[in-house]
Amino acid sequence: MGGFFGCVGRENCLFDLFFGTDYHSHLGTRRAGLVTYDGKDFDRAIHNIENSPFRTKFDKDVQDMDGYMGIGCISDYEPQPLIVRSHHGTFAITTVSKINNKQQLIEDLFSAGNSHFLEMSGGDINSTELVAAIINQKENLIEGIKYALDSVDGSLSLLLLTPKGLFCARDSYGRTPVVLGKKLNTDEETGDSESYCVSFEDFAFQKLGYETYKELGPGEIDVITQEGVRTLVTPGDKMKICTFLWVYYGYPSSSYEGISVEKMRYNCGACLAKRDNVKPDIVAGVPDSGTAHAIGYSNESGIPFSRPFIKYTPTWSRSFMPTIQSKRNMIAKMKLIAVNDLIKDKSMLLIDDSIVRGTQLRETTEFLYDNGAKEVHIRPACPPLVYACKYLNFSRSNSEMDLITRRVIAKLEGTTDVSEEILSKYANPDTPEYEKMVEEIRKELHFTTLRFNRLDDMLESVGIDTDKLCTYCWDGKE
Ligand code: SF4
Repeated sequence: MGGFFGCVGRENCLFDLFFGTDYHSHLGTRRAGLVTYDGKDFDRAIHNIENSPFRTKFDKDVQDMDGYMGIGCISDYEPQPLIVRSHHGTFAITTVSKINNKQQLIEDLFSAGNSHFLEMSGGDINSTELVAAIINQKENLIEGIKYALDSVDGSLSLLLLTPKGLFCARDSYGRTPVVLGKKLNTDEETGDSESYCVSFEDFAFQKLGYETYKELGPGEIDVITQEGVRTLVTPGDKMKICTFLWVYYGYPSSSYEGISVEKMRYNCGACLAKRDNVKPDIVAGVPDSGTAHAIGYSNESGIPFSRPFIKYTPTWSRSFMPTIQSKRNMIAKMKLIAVNDLIKDKSMLLIDDSIVRGTQLRETTEFLYDNGAKEVHIRPACPPLVYACKYLNFSRSNSEMDLITRRVIAKLEGTTDVSEEILSKYANPDTPEYEKMVEEIRKELHFTTLRFNRLDDMLESVGIDTDKLCTYCWDGKE
């Protein structure tokens, strides 16, 4: 997925840039980068963070870099930020994007006279470079950024640093968040001054002394300078923010659209508990993303919350996550340590954020049975994922046939060629098709019982106008 952070102040901003970017480490595992501007030059560092965390990799760069403005990113795929020279002058750019019409955009640019793109290893074109090339098609930066937001099928939010200021743009449908923070600096010698920052995650700047200044609306473009923030393009009225931000990949201490991630997860757990009819001895969450949902379930039901397995975190940092699925599964297993006294002879209800392939949850369930569990009731905090996400680079569901729902539907229907009409029946919790699918998943994954959260309950758990929430991966509605 990826995340970004940027800041503008009057003094050296490296401390804020370094930690603000580091606080996005849960959003990507491959590359990270920083760019600063010191009034004369741009400076840049990019590293591979697959095998060691951001702070370790950038510790030395930060000692050497200087600047009062900067942008940083954690990227799940392409190396960035890039520094580009064009008719707009020199600028640095970082993006959080998924570009479904990449090939078409590349061909359009070649037809328009763009002579080349650099290939990354594997032959792909760097999406951030592509976005820069689209921006360069227009006379001025604002028109260029607007053009890029309009041209991309998928999603695109970006930060673009120029000597004149830091431009921030949120995706046309607000699929991912862009939040601005502000802080007052008091200095006896130089007097009071204000610093601004821009971030994917709002907790990232709150820990650095900034307060939330504003959240950009869909398609909004702002520029931050030492003088303050100016809105260059006002927000559109159509919002489709990703609901999965709250369910799974947002950090628990973050808020989006003013709604706390942790609190939304408690609400989800409470909804599951209200509709449930089992009486397990304990409620537990699959660490870490199932934990808050499980607390919500436990608080609502009165069934004690417990931690029957605990993640070994001191040496298995979040960022150490190989990109090969089989290795990811193996490491996920190695991280979990059983607390046998809490498992043996117990009936337990286990909550995970979702079921994608089902492999990990099945292994976790086997692990609990192997350690003496009597019953394992599974309660995913979101409805069955029936459609692969086409708006974000969301590594958990790259292809539709990876989804356990699709494999089970294909088995029940006797074909992988299933019409939209049939799929919509399986996605509807009030149909016999849905019941059959859930029962088949339960049998395949060896759960004692299985009950998914309902879409209406999950949306109510967020609590904003449901029209503003993307639900595509559950109901296929765009
Ligand atoms: S399809 Fe799902 S994961 Fe993708 S943006 Fe929509 S809610 Fe988020």
